[in-house]
Amino acid sequence: MEPIDRATAWPYDERGEPRDFYYSRYAHPTGAAAERELGALEGGEALLFASGMGAATAVVLAFAGPGTTIALAEGAYFGTAVLLRDLARWGIELTEFDQTQPPPDADIVWVEAPANPVLSLPDWDAVRAHRGLKICDATVATPVYLRALDEGADVVLHSATKFLTGHHDALLGATVTRDSTHTERLRTARAHAGIVAGPDPAQSLLRGLETLETRMRRHTETAAELARRLREHPAVTRVRYPGFSGLISFDVAGDPRRVETATSLIVNQTSLGGVRSSIESRHRWEGDRIPRGLLRLSVGLEDADALWADLAHALATDS
Ligand code: PLP
Repeated sequence: MEPIDRATAWPYDERGEPRDFYYSRYAHPTGAAAERELGALEGGEALLFASGMGAATAVVLAFAGPGTTIALAEGAYFGTAVLLRDLARWGIELTEFDQTQPPPDADIVWVEAPANPVLSLPDWDAVRAHRGLKICDATVATPVYLRALDEGADVVLHSATKFLTGHHDALLGATVTRDSTHTERLRTARAHAGIVAGPDPAQSLLRGLETLETRMRRHTETAAELARRLREHPAVTRVRYPGFSGLISFDVAGDPRRVETATSLIVNQTSLGGVRSSIESRHRWEGDRIPRGLLRLSVGLEDADALWADLAHALATDS
């Protein structure tokens, strides 16, 4: 990897004209290098943002205005629903729909593949047939398991804070687009609003992408095994796992707080997609939008049997 360049400004050329990089709110070398790598994986042009929510904000700034209708997948990341609901004040109208069914009519259809934490997947045929601009949050799938542009999305969105960087040490978002008009609108929104990523998170993305495929295969292998064992556990009433990536959600009949606070190898914290496993009850954040007993487990790279021993011990506190 190139050494990191943390400059915020670079000299103009000998004619006094800006070069490719002149002020870091517009672009910087580390960001551009990471965007090239991510863009190649997704088959489009990537732009980095200060966070996943920064990327979502740029999508709204670029493509929505008073009177715009947005149809959002039910059970998608809670923060996205909160942001889009807040926009009622700006005349933007939100409806939520079951993404396993065709979306309702709207100017923008916003799916999540798979949705965090309910882990549903969109009906891609119905999404493709929709008249609206198609946004797909592919944070949980990553380009290892889904190239959403190939499925018909106009804009792929990532919280690169999660699997893409993979170490819980960088806050970062991304969009990926194929249509240059879409890319330029997002680039303008990013520069004007100042929601650009700094060079350090961009460097973390470059590092994360070097191991992404290997990590994702291992996350999947372990998560599939844990999902299988959870399905057989008497304290577990429901398991959701889409068959790929490292996110599982499962329901317990008792108090999920008792389970999450009884693990030791699996850290009781928010977020997902790191090399260390983490677990949390989502009801504390999302309320009755999701089942009270739902626990979201992000499976890391630890030994599967050690993770199961930790989970089985924690589940025993709930029986
Ligand atoms: N999209 C999904 C699916 C997420 O899980 C998250 C965060 O949890 C976000 C977007 C927001 O990303 P960030 O926390 O990087 O702003």
